[in-house]
Amino acid sequence: MRVYNFSAGPSTLPQAVLEQVQAELLDFQGTGMSVMEDSHRGKRFITLAQEITENLRALLQIPDNYRILFLQGGAFGQFSAIPMNLAAPGQTVDYVNTGQWSKKAISEAQKYAKVKIVADEGKSNYCTVPLADSLISSPGSAYFHYTPNETIGGVEFPYIPKVEAPLVGDFSSTILSRPIPVSQYGVIYAGTQKNMAPSGMAVVIIHEDLLGKARETTPAIWNYDLMNENDSMLNTPPTFTWYVLGLVVEWLIKQGGLKQIALRNEAKAKALYDAIDTSDFYHNPVAKNCRSWMNVPFTLSDPQLDSEFLAGAKAAGLVNLEGHRSVGGMRASIYNAMEMAGVQALIEYMAEFERTRG
Ligand code: PMP
Repeated sequence: MRVYNFSAGPSTLPQAVLEQVQAELLDFQGTGMSVMEDSHRGKRFITLAQEITENLRALLQIPDNYRILFLQGGAFGQFSAIPMNLAAPGQTVDYVNTGQWSKKAISEAQKYAKVKIVADEGKSNYCTVPLADSLISSPGSAYFHYTPNETIGGVEFPYIPKVEAPLVGDFSSTILSRPIPVSQYGVIYAGTQKNMAPSGMAVVIIHEDLLGKARETTPAIWNYDLMNENDSMLNTPPTFTWYVLGLVVEWLIKQGGLKQIALRNEAKAKALYDAIDTSDFYHNPVAKNCRSWMNVPFTLSDPQLDSEFLAGAKAAGLVNLEGHRSVGGMRASIYNAMEMAGVQALIEYMAEFERTRG
């Protein structure tokens, strides 16, 4: 029996995609084998990879002067790859600190460049985003990095920073949840295991003017120039993840594209936040102007009831609701593949739990 899986990542995938994977597992397009058993150097996989790249470009409306790279090492790898590819040693790079993923990006960047923290939301316990006007890039800065959606804190920027330096966004937990005006960015990157595919890859969308700056010591597999020249196949790529990404992109196109998906995501998030806000028993600490559509953390008024809440949820087929180990409480991740029916089932369970135990 399929459950409603609220995991923050790896995350639930569309059932139609899983069924297609299952149907093609023993015989992909008459090859007599699965995609993951075939050579990445063969014509079939190369053609498949090109089709997936084109479909992703069409879905996200990525302009022609941007390159799309498929790299290993997840988004965490990109925390290092970004400064190694875009900044000279000792050059200033700007970062906004809105929570735990920003912090990790910052500590990696500090190994390679001079990090300036432009804004730090610690004063609100990372429940806010900075005012748009307060974000200004430093003179000579190689780039300006921010985290549009903090997966752990459930904080999401309601605006796109307007700065002089090339804008770099860690879209790991919000990519493909709605349209993105790609041309406002220098680099968009994201790990695949939330809204795109299984784990194993990061997608990097980079303006071509930012290529050609990689420092010589950059590992070849994270060197944007080399990977661009080699169609992201300098070494063996995670072919299965790439293939599933292609199926998810096709599924999104069939759903009507990112505008449609955005409407659904907004409605799901609104329903869940409304349920939390109208109750005295559940609480979400994030400022209302920057609540995430994708990751909804919440606490119970009595934390002693947490384990009972989780056990009851699991019995009702609602799983992976525990908050990140660093913060506790609950977190419902409601990515693209989570249907409204799953959110409704959670809301009903929460109401019933409050009625009987609150
Ligand atoms: N950035 C954000 C916003 C994330 O949520 C995560 C993973 N949860 C990462 C970076 C790290 O990504 P990965 O695990 O793919 O390396």
